[in-house]
Amino acid sequence: ESFLNRSYTFENFIEGDCNRLARAASFAVAEKPSVTSFNPLMIYGGVGLGKTHLVQAIGNYIKMNFEGKFVLYVSSEKFTSQFINAIRNNSLQDFMAFYMQVDVLILDDVQFLSGKEKTQETFFHIFNHLHQSGKQIVMTSDRPPRDLEGMEDRLLSRFKWGLTADLQSPDLETRIAIIHKKTQDEGIDIDFEVIEYLAHSIDSNVRELEGVMISLIAQASLTQRTIDLELAKRTLNHIVTESEKEVSIDGIVSVVTEHYSVRIADLKSKSRLRSIVIPRQVAMYLAKELTNLSLKSIGYHFGGRDHSTVIHAIQTVNDLMDTNKEMEKEVNSLMKQFKKK
Ligand code: ADP
Ligand code: MG
Repeated sequence: ESFLNRSYTFENFIEGDCNRLARAASFAVAEKPSVTSFNPLMIYGGVGLGKTHLVQAIGNYIKMNFEGKFVLYVSSEKFTSQFINAIRNNSLQDFMAFYMQVDVLILDDVQFLSGKEKTQETFFHIFNHLHQSGKQIVMTSDRPPRDLEGMEDRLLSRFKWGLTADLQSPDLETRIAIIHKKTQDEGIDIDFEVIEYLAHSIDSNVRELEGVMISLIAQASLTQRTIDLELAKRTLNHIVTESEKEVSIDGIVSVVTEHYSVRIADLKSKSRLRSIVIPRQVAMYLAKELTNLSLKSIGYHFGGRDHSTVIHAIQTVNDLMDTNKEMEKEVNSLMKQFKKK
């Protein structure tokens, strides 16, 4: 058994600027395991960016195309607990022998080995044996090797023998492509306007985007098989309130429009009236403070402004708060309305 999820394939992995190098390196390793100089291959990046998917795609590809190769996927957590059990049961030799017969070892989330000296030492021996025998090693980590603390230097120096490639947060085009593919695969209708809205509302990681899409597709499947703007907004507000850590753009817009007695259309308009510019800038400031959205996404929600306009708005509100006690009080009290909820 390889412990691979069959749906984690290269076909299902959407390529974009955020993952191009990591994907290309992974594919090269999958086509020629242990032949390329990418040994070990180390893929790193934050949560939900596709590390597990990508390294399992390597495993699935090799299993499919190289009959008889022993591919093994294991999380570092599982590796550690197997090791601890082996010590307890006096079966360390069996444990080592098992791992040394693997042709392609995929070890996920190696940062988990931090501070676990004995486990690292054992992995170091397995690593050397496999590498010397011309076997492929693939690893993932949530940070670059140089930032891994509590890791033995001799192990870290091994990681540098091969290739290290990172996964970045998904860029706009990639998010759009993912939403497009997920809906198309399920035969769900969605207008481009709605895809754009979603892509600008969830821009942190792919897992979160995927979660929202699963929920939207499930709801659309029950009804007219369409994801319209209304459904998208309702679902996002719901998910955001549930997670409680983040505030929705809609929530900010409604608090600001009510407080300043302006209309939603005003916030998105090109109006340069001070009575509208200030609320608009305050809304962008609150979006920056209270959500995880990028400057680009915030600009999108306020009439398609570019990120330099958003930076300017945030700067202006900061300056006003520094010089004007009333303004400081006002913005802080708006901010408090969200903290309560
Ligand atoms: P990580 O291991 O980095 O935390 P995962 O590999 O578990 O992230 O990815 C989270 C989810 O997002 C998975 O369901 C995965 O299939 C999906 N995913 C990530 N990146 C992509 C991508 N480029 N194309 C399609 N799906 C992706
Ligand atoms: Mg993972």
